[in-house]
Amino acid sequence: MRAIYREGRFYPSAVCDHCDAEIEDAGKATALWDPDSGEAFFVHKPCNRAFESSFGGRLWWEPLDSFLQRVLRNSGFRPDKAKEKAEMLGQLP
Ligand SMILES: [Zn+2]
Repeated sequence: MRAIYREGRFYPSAVCDHCDAEIEDAGKATALWDPDSGEAFFVHKPCNRAFESSFGGRLWWEPLDSFLQRVLRNSGFRPDKAKEKAEMLGQLP
């Protein structure tokens, strides 16, 4: 995850840990994590194999859209409360 500065505003987004490009479709990306450290990585599906090869260890995986859904659930995300805040903060530079 990264806050990208775009068109004069901060734009929180998922970024590929292999090619460093923004992930614009979570359904076409993968979450990978190191089972030993718990560190998680996001990659485009075409970048998955190259990232795993360069990582040098075993990684577990899950489709990114499923992973993000579970992060939100496990973090107590409340869409009704978050929407208003996000809309307000999205207007700030
Ligand atoms: Zn990539």
